[in-house]
Amino acid sequence: MHLFTGGSSASLLVSRTMSESKKYDIIILGAGASGLYCAMHAASRGRKVVVIDHGGKPARKVRVSGGGMCNFTNLHVTPDNYICSNPHFVKSALARFSPWDVVGFLAENGISYEEREHGQLFTEQGAGRVAGALVARSRRAGAELLLGRTIESVSGTGPFSVDTGGEILKADKLVVALGGPSWAQVGATDLGFRLAKQYELSIVRPRPGLVPLVLAKNEKDICRELTGNALPVTIECNGVRFTDPLLFTHKGISGPATLQISSYWRDNQPVVIDFLPGQSLSGYIEENRSSNVQFKNLLSRILPKRLPELILSQALAEASVSQLTKQQIEVAENRIHRFSVVPTNTEGYAKAEVVVGGVDTNSVSSKTMECKDVPGLHVIGEALDVTGHLGGFNLHWAFASGAACGDEL
Ligand SMILES: Cc1cc2nc3c(=O)[nH]c(=O)nc-3n(C[C@H](O)[C@H](O)[C@H](O)COP(=O)(O)OP(=O)(O)OC[C@H]3O[C@@H](n4cnc5c(N)ncnc54)[C@H](O)[C@@H]3O)c2cc1C
Repeated sequence: MHLFTGGSSASLLVSRTMSESKKYDIIILGAGASGLYCAMHAASRGRKVVVIDHGGKPARKVRVSGGGMCNFTNLHVTPDNYICSNPHFVKSALARFSPWDVVGFLAENGISYEEREHGQLFTEQGAGRVAGALVARSRRAGAELLLGRTIESVSGTGPFSVDTGGEILKADKLVVALGGPSWAQVGATDLGFRLAKQYELSIVRPRPGLVPLVLAKNEKDICRELTGNALPVTIECNGVRFTDPLLFTHKGISGPATLQISSYWRDNQPVVIDFLPGQSLSGYIEENRSSNVQFKNLLSRILPKRLPELILSQALAEASVSQLTKQQIEVAENRIHRFSVVPTNTEGYAKAEVVVGGVDTNSVSSKTMECKDVPGLHVIGEALDVTGHLGGFNLHWAFASGAACGDEL
């Protein structure tokens, strides 16, 4: 088996000269949401578990989640909330793990929740408490946490051997819980994907998800003028649509609607925005047909003030409502109900909450998360090709896949 090398040659030399190794039942790579949940479940069943992470602090993504309040699950979770090349894959783990399992776990640790719109559950005490509970419960169950450790290399299959720079750890079971490369500022890397390649697992090409979109010059100029304005929209791409708030930024568009659709967007595809979802522009014009106000002023009563003049021609924006022709109304409807843009890019992994793509689930058991062709090797959490919608679904998947794996190890 080809050896992954993540550290310096000097440290490799040191580790290779060591003759002794520590033996565990299970080595978990990554002390994030999925790794710690898995550790908790496996250790509480009497397994000898070690979790390795290069961060000095574990679960750093959890700590920044939900704007610091951790949107830890969603009451309406279903398989339809996940993007995965094999849509059936998530069903088994989700069927065995409900939002109330997470609520119960947090309650046992003194953490209460508030329900926000669309069934999103946030903590009342903050994300740091969730990270603390995951760590405390894993340790209490008997798992050992090795923090601030570089993973120099991984090799073998039953036993797997992990070189953590000066120490060789061995186990018959190896769990890859290394997440994806978004938000490197909290320690994210692509090591999970590199290890998957080393073990010849196929990978669905990763790309940033839940990420703001960058628009081309003309539309970017419009967005820049409107930076900071938000409004509810329906946004559509690739036959998928969401109704949520959209936020204008100086580079393009963001806000929940954009983040949701970004996970479905591919290069060169148009994104279509309805700035008046559930309303009829022509109906609104008819109701005000006798008015002599300029069209843009009528529209500014129901849209951000400057939006109409920025997306309509000057002649149309300044026409009197009573004088609007049928053709002008059609043009306005197209601009306001079907505003089409072709993003030039996303804002990339630095701004993406998740990675879309990852280890191909066709090569993994949906029951145990074990790789079909590499007995003993398991992959959980975001490292898999499973991406949740915005709203607590990604942490729910991290916990659900961690529990599914930890209960079977
Ligand atoms: C800003 C932000 C906010 C978010 N908010 C929410 C939210 O409110 N609700 C929600 O559901 N989801 C949210 N997410 C997504 C969610 O945090 C992730 O999907 C989830 O944490 C994935 O869990 P995981 O265990 O797979 O990976 P992670 O939690 O990322 O854990 C991976 C672990 O592996 C370690 N690691 C990585 N590379 C290496 C390496 N080379 N060597 C050693 N260790 C390594 C990392 O340090 C980390 O501890 C948010 C994400 C971001 C970036």
